[in-house]
Amino acid sequence: MPVKNRFAEMLPEIAGWRQDFHRHPELMYDLPRTSARVAGLLRDFGVDEVVEGIGRTGVVAVIRGRGQGQQGTGAGRTLGLRADMDALPIIERTGLDHASQTPGVMHACGHDGHTAMLLGAAKYLAETRGFDGTVVCIFQPAEEGGAGAKAMIDDGLMERFGIDEVYGLHNAPGLPVGRFATRSGPLQASADEFTITVTGRGGHAAEPHRAVDTTLAACQIVVSLQSVVARNVDPLAAVVVTVGTLRTDSGASNIIAQQAVMEGTVRCLDPAMRDLAEARVKAVATATAAAFGATAEVAYERGYPVTVNHPENTAHAIAAAEAVAGTAQVDGAARPIMPAEDFSYMLEARPGAYVFLGNGDSAQCHHPAYDFDDQAIPFGCSWFVALVESRLPLSA
Ligand SMILES: [Zn+2]
Ligand SMILES: [Zn+2]
Repeated sequence: MPVKNRFAEMLPEIAGWRQDFHRHPELMYDLPRTSARVAGLLRDFGVDEVVEGIGRTGVVAVIRGRGQGQQGTGAGRTLGLRADMDALPIIERTGLDHASQTPGVMHACGHDGHTAMLLGAAKYLAETRGFDGTVVCIFQPAEEGGAGAKAMIDDGLMERFGIDEVYGLHNAPGLPVGRFATRSGPLQASADEFTITVTGRGGHAAEPHRAVDTTLAACQIVVSLQSVVARNVDPLAAVVVTVGTLRTDSGASNIIAQQAVMEGTVRCLDPAMRDLAEARVKAVATATAAAFGATAEVAYERGYPVTVNHPENTAHAIAAAEAVAGTAQVDGAARPIMPAEDFSYMLEARPGAYVFLGNGDSAQCHHPAYDFDDQAIPFGCSWFVALVESRLPLSA
């Protein structure tokens, strides 16, 4: 695959951008340096159009191919390629030369690598234009909990740029560099959040019969919530219920708390299970509290939807990966994972596919010792380009 050789040549330049982003991480929608640098590089590449401020701080580049818009081949269409730009509030512990220079902020999910790889692909595509149609490079803010993809869609991303299909990738620690993994159908889980406020009657710890022990009721709720997965959900479906925090308003060992608050998350791969889990979490919490003479208020908020790859586009994504890395290096039937991804909103808006690209034997994403592996860059760049050139072929 000639593309790959070209990206091996461009690797020092692209890795330079990546390490620069890594030194200067920014959070959520607050990406002044990152988005300005992305837009500046895109202008240097000579793309046809650069638009900033989509979804607050998202950046979009339009690159038109030199084909004539042949009908009936898939050519002449508009492909969206997406990267995320935001970092995480983590204190970096890599000790690397390109470590974060902003205390408490770190590119611990490899979005620096995703952004650099899409920039590399954009530079190549703007130079060669060897496709029939239009490529829209999407650089989004706030993947880490801020639904930046949704903000860009709400800002008219798909209609304004006429996007027909969308594709994206995420690095995967534990998968060897140069390997790809994906699947048709659900790839990543939905992520919903709940806050349960339990109210009893506070009192003296030595006189529990005069109080309603809020802490006991809350702990029973934590335990009972696990019955939702064990007893309500289809055993062949994947659902996670996790209570992540539990705090009471008691400040001493001799006080029975008046109030307890817990926060948790629910992850599902199936929308029907998502409805079931929400109903059962609410019922179990309120009924368990009542059994102890306490009350529970449940605030339940739906977050990122299930990331569902479309079958036809997944086949295109797999074929492009096989062209780049070889058939043996592509797992087209990968297991889904339960962390969520806001590319799910883009896959709800348009057909497309999301793939994982190996990051080798690195620390896991969101770990303070994580670093994106620059050796993955030629594979990611080549995949974007192979996808464009195969989906939007020039007529012979
Ligand atoms: Zn992440
Ligand atoms: Zn990520």
